[in-house]
Amino acid sequence: MLSVVLPAFNEEAGIVQAVRAIRAVLETCDIGYEILVVDDGSRDATWRELQRLAHSMRSLRAIRFSRNFGKEAAIRAGLEAASGDAAIVLDADLQHPPELIAEMLRLWRTDDVDVVNGVKVDRRRESGIDTVLTRGFYRLFSRLSGLAIDNGADLKLLDRAVIDAYCRLPERQPFFRGLVTWLGFRQVDLHFDVAPRLAGASKWNGFSRLLLALTSIVSFSTLPLHIISLCGIGTSVFALFLGLQTLWVWAGGSAVEGFTTMILALAFIGGILMLGLGIIGQYLAQIYNEVKARPLYLVREVLDRPERRLQHIHQTRQPIEAACSEP
Ligand code: UDP
Ligand code: MG
Repeated sequence: MLSVVLPAFNEEAGIVQAVRAIRAVLETCDIGYEILVVDDGSRDATWRELQRLAHSMRSLRAIRFSRNFGKEAAIRAGLEAASGDAAIVLDADLQHPPELIAEMLRLWRTDDVDVVNGVKVDRRRESGIDTVLTRGFYRLFSRLSGLAIDNGADLKLLDRAVIDAYCRLPERQPFFRGLVTWLGFRQVDLHFDVAPRLAGASKWNGFSRLLLALTSIVSFSTLPLHIISLCGIGTSVFALFLGLQTLWVWAGGSAVEGFTTMILALAFIGGILMLGLGIIGQYLAQIYNEVKARPLYLVREVLDRPERRLQHIHQTRQPIEAACSEP
């Protein structure tokens, strides 16, 4: 049995078409399946569309968040609710072609693979600032974390063992692409061309991408903190030499005019200090969010078949009781 997880935020224009297209592919795959849409607090008619669709589609299940918690939380919720022996995570805007499902399944079944990673092919030699920054991020991330996720996408097939391992990670700010690579198991890449968006607009802007880049680097590497220490050592050595030289010149009775030197030294030290504080601040923020340990998402409503709903309640009650019984 296969679970297909679709995170969806404000996708009213295309969600029905996307679910239908995915179902059409699944029908040809000779496997039991469920399509699990996680409505990430959409403010449009996405949920109503799903309710309508669920009447005629028994294989459709849906979870509705109490507000927008972000794509990472939606993926996590989908994987936690998935009951398949494997799960495929796809974008709900059909940018990840559903036809890939068949190939991913083949790799999983025949090649004894635990994870199939969708990797975007960049055919066009793009040179926009956006692409340069994205490439820069991937390169930096790989360098710092030691995990190669070049051109990685959130399109993935995960075996049950990997789903369970992923859902056990206690992180409050998960980075799906990075963490799945970090988990290990047997992984293969599947290259694909990103299709144009079916309808609606992308939810990302420059600022949200910068934030994601920062938190993902911080959660995978402590190297930036060590770099601050190195900068500190470097500037201290520099200060020692400059101090000795200044004293030497002063003792010789020919002290130089100091204004420019002062301004340069202040600006340099100020810059390094602020940068250092900023980097430490990033780690502090991450620790702060982890320590608060708020849930990753809250569910407002679930669309499910009645027999499944009972099962779900049963499953979620146990961990709560277990947690309560701890000292
Ligand atoms: N998405 C989500 N929550 C968000 C933002 C996006 O669940 O807060 C979903 C969105 O509905 C889509 C997928 O994540 O299915 C990818 O988002 P988008 O197409 O906006 O990103 P892009 O393809 O431009 O990277
Ligand atoms: Mg998209």
